Amino acid sequence: MPGPVNLNGAAKVDGWWRRLGGVLCRARCLACGEPGRPGADLCDACLAALPWNDPACPRCALPLPAPAPLCAACRRRAPPLHATHAALRYAAPVDRLLPRFKFHRDLAAGRLLAEAMAGRFAALPRPDALLPVPLHLGRLRQRGYDQALELARPLAGALDLPLLPGALRRVRATRPQSELDATARARNLRDAFAVEASQPLPAHVVLVDDVMTTGATLCAAARALRRAGARRVDAWVCARVA
Ligand SMILES: [Zn+2]
Ligand SMILES: [Zn+2]
Repeated sequence: MPGPVNLNGAAKVDGWWRRLGGVLCRARCLACGEPGRPGADLCDACLAALPWNDPACPRCALPLPAPAPLCAACRRRAPPLHATHAALRYAAPVDRLLPRFKFHRDLAAGRLLAEAMAGRFAALPRPDALLPVPLHLGRLRQRGYDQALELARPLAGALDLPLLPGALRRVRATRPQSELDATARARNLRDAFAVEASQPLPAHVVLVDDVMTTGATLCAAARALRRAGARRVDAWVCARVA
């Protein structure tokens, strides 16, 4: 019998189709909003202008003007990360797409960024597992959304790698790193991470995060993983700040 429940259901299905149609028929470029090719996230001009992070320091992903074995900072003091790869540089249009994904939950932007990561990282040495850098629970409640996990999940799917989302925990709320200088950042992060003891860590793990600035967060997480028995810790990030 048609009733309020059925009518409600029909309205839901109708809304779902309209949304799906909107995705399938979207012909606007995610970065510049100009008309593009149907089914493509970026117009040809924005696709060609994506700031891929080449060349970069193999240890910390710092953008370099020319290929070099290591950047000056890593020559002085090697980070606890065996290798770091950033798909993109934090420049236009990534500096607009990433905040839209991170703070406004723009899932199309997130999908595009995860695809860029999968394309760039497919040929790298395969780890035993991917570990998203966790947000502290307080921050997660505030934002309702964990951007590192939301990038790591499709990345793990695309590259057919195991994802260990609960292995690394943020045990101490830290102040936003953007408010602090480099020394204060390192201090802020001391003992910020713990490894879940119930899970034995595989030998080679990769940390996944959205943006890398100084690398203090990734290094603190890597130290915790090394202390817990991981033999090799790499980092794969979406975008590197120069
Ligand atoms: Zn465009
Ligand atoms: Zn470096």
